Amino acid sequence: MKKFDSVIVGGGMVGLTMAVAVARSGFSVAVIDSADLSKTATKNFDGRVSAITLTSRRILENIGVWAGLKENAGPISHIRISDGDSHLFLDYDAKMISDEPMGHIVENRFIRENLLAAAREYPNLEIFAPAHYEKITYHPEQVEVSVNGATILAKLLIAADGKKSKIAAQAGIKPVIRDYGQDGIVCTVRHEKNHQNTACERFLPAGPFAILPMQGGHHSSLVWTEKRALTPLFLQMDNENFTREVEKRFGNYLEKLEVIEPRFSFPLALYHAKRYISHRLALIGDAAHSIHPVAGQGLNLGIRDAAVLAELLIGQRNLGLDLGSSIMLEKYQDLRKGDNLLMMSVTDGLNHLFSNSIAPLKLARDIGLAAVNKTPPIKKFFMLHAIGAIGHQPKLALAG
Ligand SMILES: Cc1cc2nc3c(=O)[nH]c(=O)nc-3n(C[C@H](O)[C@H](O)[C@H](O)COP(=O)(O)OP(=O)(O)OC[C@H]3O[C@@H](n4cnc5c(N)ncnc54)[C@H](O)[C@@H]3O)c2cc1C
Repeated sequence: MKKFDSVIVGGGMVGLTMAVAVARSGFSVAVIDSADLSKTATKNFDGRVSAITLTSRRILENIGVWAGLKENAGPISHIRISDGDSHLFLDYDAKMISDEPMGHIVENRFIRENLLAAAREYPNLEIFAPAHYEKITYHPEQVEVSVNGATILAKLLIAADGKKSKIAAQAGIKPVIRDYGQDGIVCTVRHEKNHQNTACERFLPAGPFAILPMQGGHHSSLVWTEKRALTPLFLQMDNENFTREVEKRFGNYLEKLEVIEPRFSFPLALYHAKRYISHRLALIGDAAHSIHPVAGQGLNLGIRDAAVLAELLIGQRNLGLDLGSSIMLEKYQDLRKGDNLLMMSVTDGLNHLFSNSIAPLKLARDIGLAAVNKTPPIKKFFMLHAIGAIGHQPKLALAG
């Protein structure tokens, strides 16, 4: 029998952020993951990058993870949004809101590797992986989890087990699900010209096509939203034909392109848990909400969930209060649900509004893009929202 302050099921990027955030404040914490976590930090595990916003970067800095990441992080100083071949566009310049880049593009493998390395530094953080929990019992004063023949007792169970969370389902928490019928095709391209730290989002009839500037200037990661029925065709195509398809969508503004294998694809769906909490249970990250990657925000929302919950747990401990109290859990839900719902509706709306070529709609949205581009206060608001600076800012998100 082992006793911990909290037990986290799911050692993905959000679960490990949570674990490190509380372990560094002296909490004892167990992390259970069914995967071998060292394998999830390898190049071929998911091939994705994440756009880490300024707020998430500060959180990662404050928990001691950013220092190891920064040499592999490509800054984003501009974002250009365009609608197909329209000459009207929206251009964000980081200087409008801060001296810092709006965010950084980092390969997920580096984020996982550094989070794992940080987690391993804390003797008060124990990782059970690969391991499957067998049974969870919610008692009035604690929660009991049996895993690998051991029994774990904790004050709070934190579910970070990703989209379609089994823990949420077992606790009777129902999700709202909307399948987009789209996949995100992901690959890396090398290009002749330097990207100048500019991220591009092109809205094409099948869905958004994002070009994300990676560290070094001559590589970008693509997130190409495509109708699911067509994904196998693009995944199986030989490299020459696939490169031609990429070029059609990418354009030639960075001159000659070379696609670097492998390619990956991810089914896209909106998923939102109706409640983030239950008795001695909190959901964080994709276990609570999974959104369209059009704005590169899913992980950022999860990192903010972790920072807010860590702050509330520290507050409870400082006052000698129960770490699984329902009042604290209600507060967590109140602080996070609005922020997550707002981003969810923005990404859902953008995907719907732009993923078509209906002429009057195209005209209206192009005028909209150009109008926002010429209205600095609205532009600024959108930028602050995009970097995670609107809404409750946990202490961990403040500049150190
Ligand atoms: C194409 C694409 C591009 C994206 N780009 C961005 C971006 O640029 N910026 C951004 O912020 N977000 C982005 N996202 C979203 C982001 O990837 C996710 O929000 C994020 O990975 C969620 O992390 P998580 O730790 O909550 O969940 P997951 O990464 O799903 O981790 C869940 C963990 O739980 C474990 N697990 C699952 N079930 C169990 C179980 N029963 N027992 C034990 N362990 C279990 C899994 O092994 C895994 O390690 C993108 C998503 C896609 C699809």
